[in-house]
Amino acid sequence: MALDIKTLNYEIKKIITPNLEELAKAFEPGLKENFSEVKLEIVDCPNLTKDPFYLASEGISGDTVILEYGSAVYLLPLVQKHKIYDLPSMIRNIPGYENKEFFASGAGAGPYPLINQNCEGIMNLKVDSNGKITNETHISRVDSNGGMEVQKVPLSETRSALLGNIFLSEGNSGQVLKVSCKKRIGNENFISAMRLSMANYFKDQTVGIGGVFILKTGKAKQHVMDDFSEVPINTEDELNSWLKFFDMSAPLIAVGTFVTDESDLDLRLQHFHSFSKHGEAGHYHYDVTPNIVEYEGYFNVGARIVRIDRPEITHKFGRD
Ligand code: ZN
Repeated sequence: MALDIKTLNYEIKKIITPNLEELAKAFEPGLKENFSEVKLEIVDCPNLTKDPFYLASEGISGDTVILEYGSAVYLLPLVQKHKIYDLPSMIRNIPGYENKEFFASGAGAGPYPLINQNCEGIMNLKVDSNGKITNETHISRVDSNGGMEVQKVPLSETRSALLGNIFLSEGNSGQVLKVSCKKRIGNENFISAMRLSMANYFKDQTVGIGGVFILKTGKAKQHVMDDFSEVPINTEDELNSWLKFFDMSAPLIAVGTFVTDESDLDLRLQHFHSFSKHGEAGHYHYDVTPNIVEYEGYFNVGARIVRIDRPEITHKFGRD
């Protein structure tokens, strides 16, 4: 059972949409501080359904939306298990998205009722105007030996629990900003390098970005949430001992969003989950192989923010 969308609070905000040339300018200083080789190009989006991306749709263009639902407040200190969201139901309630084809990809809590265990969701779902689903969503859980177990969800499983950050579009081909970086020389991760740089460039204006990146070489530190804790988790230390961290190997395919600021919507600043074809998937923190790391990302600008089921009282932890 998912929450009835009619009971959920929807907040919709139009934001500025810089063109891709300007976005490249905004990203460049932060990327050059953190990587020894940086290349920014405006390109036609490669077909994202193909190797090495394996996404559900060809592109990330058309009526773009930065979609955030739920909150870490519904996970911490204790889980609120009724917070289950059905993506197509939520998206069909967004003005303009009542009928048309959509592509939703990003980072969320997985649909725990499917496996009766808390899990990471690497959301990756297309629904056409007739309701036909293409579902490439993966989930990752901690297995009984403390390792990780990754699986693709069944075609009809379109739910996410607790929270999520999704880049929504019509899934069209179109121009995107390609970002290629090699060898990390700074302390920021691939996403925070771009996010901090664009926050500085756009000053007080909210800009939201979504897309996909490939960790092409090296390894990334990623977490997988353990099953729900029965004791309250109140501090970052308690959180970090509950989360299970793994160094996961390239190639990793990461999807998610990042924004310049929380706006007045209590937005999560960045959130990417990655999956692979070799049995590893989780929540991206940073690479652990700076000397050999190589990233290649394709990003587009969100024209609206849709914030669903924002908590009345928020907290700031569990957002790393
Ligand atoms: Zn996450």
